[in-house]
Amino acid sequence: MNKEELMRRAIVLSEKSVKTGGGPFGAVIAKDGVVVAEASNSVTLDFDPTAHAEVNAIRTACNRLRTFDLEGCEIYCSCEPCPMCLGAIYWAHIDRIYYANDRKAAAGIGFDDDFIYQEIGRDLAGRHRPIECLLPEEGKKAFDMWRQKGDKTEY
Ligand SMILES: [Zn+2]
Repeated sequence: MNKEELMRRAIVLSEKSVKTGGGPFGAVIAKDGVVVAEASNSVTLDFDPTAHAEVNAIRTACNRLRTFDLEGCEIYCSCEPCPMCLGAIYWAHIDRIYYANDRKAAAGIGFDDDFIYQEIGRDLAGRHRPIECLLPEEGKKAFDMWRQKGDKTEY
């Protein structure tokens, strides 16, 4: 399938999702033009605030390919990814991102994630949700263990 066909598939998923009770978002992950996984938003259906279309598609793709690294894949999102999904896409090492609706259009229908993008750029003290460091010395032990582990699977 070419780029437009793959994006159209993500868009169709976003429309179907509206009809079936999910949020208006769809995502398709493809490798060399072949669909690896596709998903729609299921936040309200699954009672899962992380169940965005992109995250759902990444989980399915990784499970199908038995990998945690989607290098060589592309993702087609019916809407520009939110900060959580963008992070997930980067962690999954997906090569390229395509989107149809942009985040301004999403904000226009009540999905405004711009405040999260702004939060990321703020100092911890200036954020709207309190965040503080607690027990850093005790927390360090797992990091030391990881550093010294000889047979770790790096990602
Ligand atoms: Zn998202």
